[in-house]
Amino acid sequence: MSWRGSWGCKLGELRDPHPSPLPKGRGDLRGEGTCRERELERLLMGGAAAVIGGAAVFGAPLGIAVPAGALIAVLADGIFRPASSTLYPTISRGPRDRPMVALTFDDGPDAEVTPTVLDVLEQFGARATFFAIGRNVEANMNVARRIVAGQHELANHSWQHSRFQNFYNRGTQAADLSRSAGLIREITGVDAEPLYRPPIGLKSPPLARAAHERKLTMVGWSVHGRDTMQEDSERIAADILKRITAGDIVLLHDGHDLPNRHRRAGAKALPLILQGLRERGLQAVTVSELLKLR
Ligand SMILES: [Zn+2]
Repeated sequence: MSWRGSWGCKLGELRDPHPSPLPKGRGDLRGEGTCRERELERLLMGGAAAVIGGAAVFGAPLGIAVPAGALIAVLADGIFRPASSTLYPTISRGPRDRPMVALTFDDGPDAEVTPTVLDVLEQFGARATFFAIGRNVEANMNVARRIVAGQHELANHSWQHSRFQNFYNRGTQAADLSRSAGLIREITGVDAEPLYRPPIGLKSPPLARAAHERKLTMVGWSVHGRDTMQEDSERIAADILKRITAGDIVLLHDGHDLPNRHRRAGAKALPLILQGLRERGLQAVTVSELLKLR
């Protein structure tokens, strides 16, 4: 049996080859799995089956092994799959019935790269959402203010963007969320809770509890721009344009979680991406506009 035949999608394919019908409400926008995510889901289910099987071999009663395996599968799905709504409702795309998409830029602001991104957006009359790292906002306040002045959306991507964030307890998660949200509100002058995207797309049960307390709108993505994986801007743009359709939320990067590191590939690809969108009649708007939240 071929790999495609047994798993239903090509190796490396990210988009759903059988997109769901037009969504009727925001509930339908949650947790839509891409091909790779469905593969991951299957792997997780396989892991759970292994737990159950292993427990059976070692003599644990099935009454314990089966619920334990199922719990591990559900938890792992909620933590590791960015579009999963298992732990917290997560929006990964907008409605498909309007000619709009949302470009999102993560990990900035960056003093060198973000102004270039803003220049290009302005040139095309496009808007975008910046999922900013709080400490990067604090270090680049003028750039953050320029994002807001350009009618773009400044959103929360945690304060610290720690690689250990998934091990934070509820209190630490809440403090991290709150610190970043507070600074964003100070800059925007808007009291509404900013949209939130967790670092690396990972969610943990303590983060979910902290998110429930703030009634966060959690946002993933439906198209990964792959701009952290390759430098070739033409390939990045062509690859996005090949996959994008109305309603998609695209993940790109204008910043870095490590000091003195820069990600420029997304900014270089942006004019090509926006030109391609224009040719298709797709308008680049903020995530809130795409979701009709504002
Ligand atoms: Zn990030």
